Amino acid sequence: MLEELYEEIILDHYRRPRNKGKVDPSDFVVHDSNPLCGDEIDISARLSDGKITEVKFDGRGCAICMASASIMTQKLRGQSQLAAQQFIVGFLNMMRGETAFGGKELGDLKALEGVLKFPVRVKCATLAWNAALQGLRQGADKQS
Ligand code: ZN
Repeated sequence: MLEELYEEIILDHYRRPRNKGKVDPSDFVVHDSNPLCGDEIDISARLSDGKITEVKFDGRGCAICMASASIMTQKLRGQSQLAAQQFIVGFLNMMRGETAFGGKELGDLKALEGVLKFPVRVKCATLAWNAALQGLRQGADKQS
């Protein structure tokens, strides 16, 4: 019944998204879309002393896309920019089926690994993460 549990996690985040909206003022806003599915997303964040102090997502899309963004904001808030980038890269690797997720506590992310079984949905699950990674790289450039 593990799959049902994962489905429940995804639906819970879809119905009650965490950190939805826009960070204002923000250090970066990145828009990305997944035309295959119609997902649209904005990731905005505030950075301070090399840390992500606030991160939110906005947009619309399928349950997997929205839930993935919601889970991501919970994982990234409070992390250093460097740790967050490594975390995102680790997640993206996992979603390519390349590596296990470095032995870290997966928590709700485990639910997203199930998406690997549906290759056309992987882009839905990774959309927010790619946008956040792009934003963090821009933000790092700006601050250095
Ligand atoms: Zn989608």
